[in-house]
Amino acid sequence: QSSEPWRNFDRSKVYTADLESALHYLLRVELAAHTSLEGDELKVFKDLVTVVTKLYPGGGSVAKLMETLSDWLLSLPLQRIPYQAVLDLVDNKMRISGVFLGAEVRWVGCQGSRAGLRGYPCSLWTLFHVLTVQHDAMPTALDNTGLEGEAAPVLQVMRRYIRTFFGCEECGRHFEQAAAASMDRVQNREQQILWLWNQHNMVNNRLTGSLSDDPLFPKAPWPSPSLCASCHEEENGVHVWNQNRILSFLRHHYGASNLSPHYSL
Ligand code: FAD
Repeated sequence: QSSEPWRNFDRSKVYTADLESALHYLLRVELAAHTSLEGDELKVFKDLVTVVTKLYPGGGSVAKLMETLSDWLLSLPLQRIPYQAVLDLVDNKMRISGVFLGAEVRWVGCQGSRAGLRGYPCSLWTLFHVLTVQHDAMPTALDNTGLEGEAAPVLQVMRRYIRTFFGCEECGRHFEQAAAASMDRVQNREQQILWLWNQHNMVNNRLTGSLSDDPLFPKAPWPSPSLCASCHEEENGVHVWNQNRILSFLRHHYGASNLSPHYSL
């Protein structure tokens, strides 16, 4: 990553290149740690693919790949799927659309100042923020998927995915603790957006100054006043967030119209 040229980017935008890279990394690296998928693992993976297929706003070859994957997973009568079969499908599909291995991970808003910083975990947060906002914009998108009965389907799928597959086990433990403590209280799509924002800030707070903190992108409460001045208020000398402004800001920032295709695959 550090040998690649720096890609200039705008912090007020979200880049489809990061979302696409997240999905490629997830399919090729994270999933590869499992030689086969069955039982709960298979269910968690299917639900993730469903949520992404129904809510991913970026379009392009990766969205098509996820659709193909989703159709294939739903049509398979198998109880157990070898990882190699998933990989074959991904490879074939990519070859057809002219995207080749090696050119697939391209971090932009998630670039780190050196290898090992940012990248995939940054893009996974970004992906799930986008999905919570998209679910709010398209409330019926998950109808007839089996997920429509859940109050916070995007969060529940994220929770199960992180618990089952996310390579950073410590992160998984922390996230599971937070989910167990308060995710059940999320009752609607707006709260779903805000819960993830708040949880992400709790993690930022915990990680300030830690080894994973990129000096070029220091962890801090987000959005900064330069991104959203009206999100910040003061009450009796104490900083408070204006939740309504935060919600509008998140809908805009992670909304489909703020996605930049620049550097996209
Ligand atoms: P990230 O925190 O990855 O954020 C990515 C981008 O999202 C930022 O650049 C910013 O544009 C935006 N953003 C920042 N804050 C918010 C917010 N509150 N709401 C919406 N958007 C925001 N690492 C650990 O060391 N320990 C852990 O326990 C841990 N738990 C994790 C749990 C999960 C579910 C995930 C996905 C990651 C976790 N990580 C953990 C990794 C860590 O949170 C960062 O992703 C990583 O350190 C890279 O940081 P970053 O600077 O790229 O910013």
